[in-house]
Amino acid sequence: MSEPRPPPVAPFDACVSCSKGDTTTAFGLVGTAELISAGLMRCAGIPSERAAEMAIAAFRQLGSVSDTGWPRGMRRVAFRLCRECAKRYRAEVGELPTVGDLENTIPIHYPHPIIKDLGEG
Ligand SMILES: [Zn+2]
Repeated sequence: MSEPRPPPVAPFDACVSCSKGDTTTAFGLVGTAELISAGLMRCAGIPSERAAEMAIAAFRQLGSVSDTGWPRGMRRVAFRLCRECAKRYRAEVGELPTVGDLENTIPIHYPHPIIKDLGEG
């Protein structure tokens, strides 16, 4: 796996899937970096390599990494996903900032779309 690339320039509060700006809905994902990556593919239609990069970047941003910088443990993270993409991928999204308890929603995306750290999984 290659080193994650810097995130592309995206509109403010962009949807992780289509990059539409000012996205006010999001979904949450819970699990290891591998599961988060799979969730991003499933819920936001993100290609596998990019999904893996996003999951790794998220864990690094949240500080859940080993001494060598690889993802460690389980996290709960939220990703902005617009309603159009949620419908397309049959993902469940909530309106921000009331997403709140995301445990029962399908999550996912890249550093800039991460809304908040939901704590240790
Ligand atoms: Zn979208």
